[in-house]
Amino acid sequence: PTDTALLEVTDLRAWYAESQALQGIGFRVNPGELVTLIGRNGAGKTTTLRSIMGIVKNRKGSIRFEGNELIGKRTYQIARQGIAYCPEERGIFASLSVRENLSLPPTLKSGGMSEDALFETFPNLRARASSRGTQLSGGEQQMLAIARILRNGCRFLLLDEPSEGLAPVVVKEIGAQIRRLKAQGYTILLVEQNLNFARSVADRHVVIEHGTVVDQLTNDELSADLNRVKTYLGV
Ligand code: ATP
Repeated sequence: PTDTALLEVTDLRAWYAESQALQGIGFRVNPGELVTLIGRNGAGKTTTLRSIMGIVKNRKGSIRFEGNELIGKRTYQIARQGIAYCPEERGIFASLSVRENLSLPPTLKSGGMSEDALFETFPNLRARASSRGTQLSGGEQQMLAIARILRNGCRFLLLDEPSEGLAPVVVKEIGAQIRRLKAQGYTILLVEQNLNFARSVADRHVVIEHGTVVDQLTNDELSADLNRVKTYLGV
């Protein structure tokens, strides 16, 4: 039922200059759910996250968060409603220490995690508190990137390919961290191309191809029939 969705995207279209990247995306995310957007390179997954966040401004259709329309809103207004976005490129300050990265910039919304709470959630980062961004491993950088967005009081996380470029053992660790965030009550929408990683964390999957949703399935449905999505991923 419509009234229980935390996020409801309907007929979302988006453009980069003259070029239409999204052709009418529709899906919903319920409170406490972890949903992935899967699909191959260029399908429109990142553009969907950037449209929700108002970074892609040329967008039409409807994006309702807790019933409020986000189309027409600016990125900082969307952040203040309680949505946090962790981009694929991670966005950490390479020349600053972990501790400095966790204090800048000022938060847009109160109620987020304190430095202590962040270090409790990501113990690896406490050990690296004085290390510069450049000195961190790929996995530590990803954890720092996620930790940074938790500084703002938010309940909905948009994560773009957290497993990207990481060794399998580190991917497992990030997966465990993300499941812990879900257990803490965060609702998560996650872009992934790594099917095994997606299966290890998600409740449900939304498959995107050529800027439209071509399939939606629960994690159990996916596990029962991997071939159902493999053609879309080109694997
Ligand atoms: P990837 O994982 O490779 O980012 P994706 O599914 O996230 O894939 P998008 O990045 O959303 O795909 O790209 C969707 C379409 O929009 C592609 O055709 C892409 O070439 C195009 N596109 C993405 N970013 C831009 C941009 N800044 N300017 C113009 N076109 C873009």
